[in-house]
Amino acid sequence: MNNEAPGNRFHGLLGNLGKLTSIRDTELVEQSLLRTLGPLLGVLDTELYRLDESQTVVRVIYSHRSKVVDSDGGARLVERIEEITNPGDLPAEVVALTDNVRLLRRPCTRRQGDQVLIAYPLVGDGDVHGYFLFKRDREVSPNEDTVIRGVLEVFSNYYALLDVSMRDRLTGLFNRQALENSFERLWTAVGRPTSVSAEDDTPGRRGLPSHSYWLAVIDVDHFKRINDTYGHMVGDEILLLVARLMTSIFRSTDLLYRYGGEEFVAIINAETAEIAHNIFERVRLGIAAHHFPRIDSLAVSIGYAAIAPNLLPVEVLSRADRSLYQAKQDGRNRIYDYQELVDTGVFKDVDYAEPEFF
Ligand code: GH3
Ligand code: MG
Ligand code: MG
Repeated sequence: MNNEAPGNRFHGLLGNLGKLTSIRDTELVEQSLLRTLGPLLGVLDTELYRLDESQTVVRVIYSHRSKVVDSDGGARLVERIEEITNPGDLPAEVVALTDNVRLLRRPCTRRQGDQVLIAYPLVGDGDVHGYFLFKRDREVSPNEDTVIRGVLEVFSNYYALLDVSMRDRLTGLFNRQALENSFERLWTAVGRPTSVSAEDDTPGRRGLPSHSYWLAVIDVDHFKRINDTYGHMVGDEILLLVARLMTSIFRSTDLLYRYGGEEFVAIINAETAEIAHNIFERVRLGIAAHHFPRIDSLAVSIGYAAIAPNLLPVEVLSRADRSLYQAKQDGRNRIYDYQELVDTGVFKDVDYAEPEFF
């Protein structure tokens, strides 16, 4: 299948590893890994599975290459990357194979007719973080095995480094840089037509999923007082507890970032403003009910706005932030929806991008 000379393939590999480690985005690095290994193994399709801490598959990346013949008769390979978040049920043979890889922490294979399904673990910090899968008409040779392991190790180490740079050191949450990196992908997802049919265009009825993502800015009330009264160490501990609490209250598919000192950004998926409001209310109440060290109680204020494809990320952030500011003005410990503030005349619907954002 791959008729390049071994020397060329090795040369190509070094070049690809160089490219891989120059990319500064975890998801692009994953795609680049598949682009590196597919041609090296002489296969057209490769797959990468990512696990969360509870070993559930949270993302699958498929790389498909296919041969197309141009009008002038020349053939070339076209590549397509497909990414699925929270994939749900995986094919039975993939589950059976990857279960073994996880338990044994080493590559495993499974015959399927005249093909072999081959899976390698992605290991970091002694844990299995994912799998690399491909199907071929023959087993892996010892030489190929050495190369695959080497490439996966470089990849895992680099991925871990990138991941660290996207996370806040105190809380382990994604940081502001990671939020900025997420925007482009998120807006693409929001702009994409959903699977819901167009039967919703009854006048006066909004299409269901048009407002399904919401961005909230969550700010701890009077946090400075805690620092001033009990010191920075206690403040840090309380911030860490707030982050842990929020992580446990939000769903695993929600995105939570530490945006600044005692300020967090959450991006959630909810069909209506009311559902979104209830989710944020659960966060506010959960924090209010928690027993923190030293202090009697802790409150947060939240401002949120719908994410829409026709708005820039900075505009949505600004809307949520203005709503948060209003919540602070009106006495704190409350949640404001931007749209409601507009509808009730508190805000005039003029957008201005706050210069402090980007
Ligand atoms: P408001 O209700 O208006 O939000 O009042 P506030 O005191 O929470 O807000 P302000 O912005 O005046 O103060 C935020 C404080 O958060 C000031 C800063 O010292 C503290 N802070 C920011 N980052 C950290 C951190 O990492 N650790 C600790 N302990 N404190 C932090
Ligand atoms: Mg505050
Ligand atoms: Mg603040």
